[in-house]
Amino acid sequence: MTVSRRRSATLVIAAALLASPLAAAPAAAAPPPPLKPGPWVCEGEPVKLNRLTSNAELAAELRTLAKRHPRTLDVETIGRSVDGRPLYTATAGTGPRKLLILTQMHGDEPLGTEAALRMLKKVAGPGRAARELREEVTIKVVPRVNPDGWERYHDPDFREGIDPRLNSHQVDLNRMFGPAPEYDLALAPEAAAVHGVVDGFAPDLVLDYHHQVTYATPDGRMVTMSVLWSTHPDVAPEVAADGKRAAAVVGDALADDPRSHLTLYPRSDTASTARNGLGLDGYPTLLLEQRGQQEAGQKGAGPLIREAQTAMESLAGSLADGSFATTDPSRADLLPERGAKVDPPC
Ligand SMILES: [Zn+2]
Repeated sequence: MTVSRRRSATLVIAAALLASPLAAAPAAAAPPPPLKPGPWVCEGEPVKLNRLTSNAELAAELRTLAKRHPRTLDVETIGRSVDGRPLYTATAGTGPRKLLILTQMHGDEPLGTEAALRMLKKVAGPGRAARELREEVTIKVVPRVNPDGWERYHDPDFREGIDPRLNSHQVDLNRMFGPAPEYDLALAPEAAAVHGVVDGFAPDLVLDYHHQVTYATPDGRMVTMSVLWSTHPDVAPEVAADGKRAAAVVGDALADDPRSHLTLYPRSDTASTARNGLGLDGYPTLLLEQRGQQEAGQKGAGPLIREAQTAMESLAGSLADGSFATTDPSRADLLPERGAKVDPPC
């Protein structure tokens, strides 16, 4: 998404009790509660990024993690961005079921990267639960597919330069998948690196983390995450069904968090997005679009990072214990549609 980093803040707080997004629609009558509004970044207020992981910090953190967990975490360099920044995979676990997590394909959408780092620390760490998870699942993360865009986004004058969602050849990396990518792969070494990872790893499920602007749920709450599986009509039904299972698992995992409000993401059948393109290649894929720091601000990022991490861990857990395979994919259809866009109240 492309949104100004400069807004000013206004808070209106409304308590809202959450019904499970997979529960039946509530009975009519009760008026929807006011939109849970905050936090907001408003006009004139810069979005601080200092608590989010810089490119240098990402490299250092991956090095530290690999050193601390030499037997449970493997970090590899898989290529370089247009501007020469390293691209990484971090892999935890040796289990037969394989989960691939892509984050920050659009450079200004960083919270999935933060969540993935936290998840990796936990999964590679000590303890029986982590060990049992690693025995059942292999989790591979490509943290920050677009480091050049993230670097540009740190510049207060980023709007004068190349859009930070794009790579440094102005390619939208989320149009580089499937049988007909929209640009020459030579212009997108970041996408080429991801293709190499996907082909080598052959994941059972791919998660693709993004940010969207602020939307309301049909009953007037603030959407924190929208999800959608591969909907292109040529995607094999069993591949689409696994994406729907993933949506249902995330819905269940977030149902108990009163701060999470999950909806479907609007359907589009563009073949070259990761969601559809990887699906067309036979890899079940779930797109996760969260409200981001652009409107929630750095202060508002904590709950969104935790939400992203919960989604990752719930899917890893469901692949590990076998419940993923027995999840009814049609339950994903019970998630509400995303409602209207909400403008900042300031
Ligand atoms: Zn995006």
